[in-house]
Amino acid sequence: MHNVLKRIELQGFKSFAGKTVLDFPARVVAIVGPNGSGKSNIIDALRWVLGEREAKKLRGDTLDNLIFAGNAKKSAVGLVRVALYLDNRKRGFPLDTEEIMLVRKADRSGTSEFTWNESEIKLKDLAPILARGRLGSRGLTIIGQGQSDIFVRSSPEERRMMIEEILGLKEFRLKKHACERRLRASRINMDKVQAMINELSPHLRFLRKQRTRFEKRSEIENKLRNFENEYFSFHYHKLKGTLARALEPITQFLEEQKTREKEIKVLEEGLRMVSEKTSGLSKAKDIRRTLTELFDEKSTIRKDLGRLEARIEFQQPVSSNNPSLTDITDTVQTLTKEIESAILWDSMSDIKDALGSWLRRLKDLFKKGLASDSSDLVVSRKKLEHDIAAIDAKIKGLRGEEEQLAQEWESANQEFREQVEQLELKKNEFRELEQKTQTQFFEKERFQLRLSELEREWQSFGHSIDELRNITKISKEIDSSGLEKKMVRLRTELAAIGEIDEGLVHEAKESEDRYEFLSRELADLKKAVSDLKNLIKDLDEKIHSDFRSSFRKINEEFNKYFRLMFGEGKAKLKLQTYKSKDINLEEGAEITTDEDEENQELRAGVEIDLSVPRKSIKGIDMLSGGEKSLTSLAALFALISVSPPPFLVLDEIDAALDEKNTQRFAELVKEFSKKTQFVLVTHNRATMEAADALYGITMGDDGVSKVLSLKLEEAV
Ligand code: ATP
Repeated sequence: MHNVLKRIELQGFKSFAGKTVLDFPARVVAIVGPNGSGKSNIIDALRWVLGEREAKKLRGDTLDNLIFAGNAKKSAVGLVRVALYLDNRKRGFPLDTEEIMLVRKADRSGTSEFTWNESEIKLKDLAPILARGRLGSRGLTIIGQGQSDIFVRSSPEERRMMIEEILGLKEFRLKKHACERRLRASRINMDKVQAMINELSPHLRFLRKQRTRFEKRSEIENKLRNFENEYFSFHYHKLKGTLARALEPITQFLEEQKTREKEIKVLEEGLRMVSEKTSGLSKAKDIRRTLTELFDEKSTIRKDLGRLEARIEFQQPVSSNNPSLTDITDTVQTLTKEIESAILWDSMSDIKDALGSWLRRLKDLFKKGLASDSSDLVVSRKKLEHDIAAIDAKIKGLRGEEEQLAQEWESANQEFREQVEQLELKKNEFRELEQKTQTQFFEKERFQLRLSELEREWQSFGHSIDELRNITKISKEIDSSGLEKKMVRLRTELAAIGEIDEGLVHEAKESEDRYEFLSRELADLKKAVSDLKNLIKDLDEKIHSDFRSSFRKINEEFNKYFRLMFGEGKAKLKLQTYKSKDINLEEGAEITTDEDEENQELRAGVEIDLSVPRKSIKGIDMLSGGEKSLTSLAALFALISVSPPPFLVLDEIDAALDEKNTQRFAELVKEFSKKTQFVLVTHNRATMEAADALYGITMGDDGVSKVLSLKLEEAV
């Protein structure tokens, strides 16, 4: 047997200004002390730490009243702290520790906080944990001063709650309430979402139509695009290829043209050089002119010679001193030979030198004659003859030169003709190449034009040339006219559909998303509602079946303790009913499956039927105050006999009992202490005697409560 309630520490709570510790080392602990010493403040502290929120239930107007107010002797405090130590060896609470420390703190600003083994916890999370351990701030586990008749005094619904709390069903009730709150919230949300869907639906229908049109259009557009890609990429690449092939010979022709140009230049240069050679013609003219002059000169000299010879003939006989004919003939022959060879000489100075020597020899030849004859006429004649000979030599030389020139000119002329022929040939070739290039160029231009036309057409469908270039899938062969027909048909279809309002399409997408979101949310909410309903149903079943199975036993015990307290009579708890038919669980009546009835039963309050024949009492209203307390006690013991809570705190519950019943109460406490731990505030000796430990509470002049451990005699 272990005591769940181990210790309570109070600090700043009502009259407990300083830190005060009360250990509960026994199954029954009695707290005794004079009126107003602060005993009930301990019970309030217990309620407060267990989560009580109403100031009234803590015997105060405001929560501020909970904090030590101070007086002339002792100043007020700003903080209140109550710590409750619970034994958790049996793991009655969902925490894997041997001991649990529940602390509640507050300050005058009203801020209050809970810690559960030093972790902060919210009251809404703490309540179900305490409920599972069958602890609560209200109900029958903590009965305050003047509340000994609480069970009788409470409403049927409150009674049911008290029973459920002792049975440990409050945990499920709280869960059910939480589920119901969530269910209500989910239903409200569901309605809101449904309303939003309803509002959205008509517009969405219109938008969907637009979207369908758009989808149809984009489907056609995709098809058209595929056809366009196939058609244009095929022709584009075909034309590109043709164009490249058309360009090839142009390059070649141009190359060849260049070669021809070079050749023509070379030929022209050659021609120029040949024509330079033929310029020797002017030289021939000079020779001819010189020859004419020489002939003229010769004829003049001849005339002079004729005249001279005539004079010589007539005026002077021939001198015997004249050179012999043989000498003259020899000399003339020798000179003629030398002159013939000299004509071929190039050097003028050599010729001059030769002429000088001939002159000397001629002079020598005629010196003798002159010396003997000294006829001037003869000298003159010789000179003239000599001059004629010189002219003849010159004429001969020039004739040779003229002949040479004529030959040279002929060969140059021949060469010139040949060169001109070749040049003409090359020029013809060049012109032919030019012609071919031009033709090829026109051909290329034609393809280029067709390509530009194709590109322009492609662009007119709203595509870029880059797109066309980037098409990688190119058909080897296409049905061009078939594709053209298909494209025209699709374009006609597109024109029939008309342009799409992108704004509407965008809106359709947004609305569709929103509709989907709302539908999902609605489905989630429906699922949540259904899950919650199921959970509530399960919880109801649990509460219902646990309550029902315990209710019969409680009733048996209630009747037993009632009879024990009153010495006779009978008492029974029964579930309230809103229909004429009572639901009598005691007799194991069939529960109807009708939902309303089931719900009613779940909500049904607990009424008390009793009779004390000796006193002709037939209901709770006829009971006296003390009898009400007795009936409540009978119910309390009935309940704890079926489902004992970890501990009970009863504040002067024995105050309204007579001696006999006080004695009986003390005995029952003693007996039940095997199952439940008791903390009793009492002034009664019999009750004190039942206690294993006694605390005395005193209050000094400073208005501060103090705790003393007492022996029974001291307490009494
Ligand atoms: P009785 O036996 O008459 O029921 P009791 O021992 O139960 O008396 P309590 O009601 O616990 O007495 O204590 C009342 C005392 O606590 C009073 O003296 C009251 O002045 C004091 N008290 C209550 N609230 C405060 C507070 N906030 N600050 C200081 N003292 C307080």
